Amino acid sequence: MATNGYTCDDAIEGLKKLLSQNSDLESVAAAKIKQLTAELEATETNEFNPVERIQNGFARFKKEKYETNPTLYSELAKSQSPKFLVFACSDSRVCPSHILDFQPGEAFVVRNIANMVPPYDTVKHSGVGAAVEYAVLHLKVEHIVVIGHSCCGGIKGLMSFPDEGPTSTHFIEQWVKICLPAKSKVKTDCSDDMDFTDQCTNCEKEAVNVSLGNLLTYPFVREAVVNKQVSIKGAHYDFVKGAFDLWNLDFAISPSLFQ
Ligand SMILES: [Zn+2]
Repeated sequence: MATNGYTCDDAIEGLKKLLSQNSDLESVAAAKIKQLTAELEATETNEFNPVERIQNGFARFKKEKYETNPTLYSELAKSQSPKFLVFACSDSRVCPSHILDFQPGEAFVVRNIANMVPPYDTVKHSGVGAAVEYAVLHLKVEHIVVIGHSCCGGIKGLMSFPDEGPTSTHFIEQWVKICLPAKSKVKTDCSDDMDFTDQCTNCEKEAVNVSLGNLLTYPFVREAVVNKQVSIKGAHYDFVKGAFDLWNLDFAISPSLFQ
């Protein structure tokens, strides 16, 4: 389902076309008004109101954290010097600032589907490359941590999608195939009778290892590792059991450190 070269102008044209197909444009405006009215009414009826949620959230943060810690925030206003570069999944349950209690300024974070680090490539996935480059060369982070997690939908996708042939998604399949070597390893290593959920759990960890290996394809990461300026670690957060495993680049999985 490739739609390469889809520009902003194309998108506007597409939107105009959709709107013109709607014979009654007033109904669009009416629907918008209805939505805005519903948002206002939601305030009174305790229904979820996204604007209120965001405003209240910021007000709480400002009162409880920002204003009670002027030293930290005035330091951060000048610069940042995080010790960690963290890769985490976009999954709403695994925010590293929450599960590891990172405070503002502590971790430079990249979040994407299934916390994957693609191999060095200046054309593909350059958003990830730019983040790694900035963190390692400019912020000079000392530790890179890739954190996988339980029940990862991206990994389940990787384990389910066919390895070849036409794709049925715009982006997801191509993206998760970054960790195809992890899937192959799991399929080879695991016995056929291992149930799919357990295979996925194994793949969540193996995919982290693939990402750790991929980090070494970035020349500046390799150099920083060799010069002992940067350590590379893998991790797996299990939010079902409430456990966090941490291991080093040598791929030897340590016992659960924090149960
Ligand atoms: Zn995930």
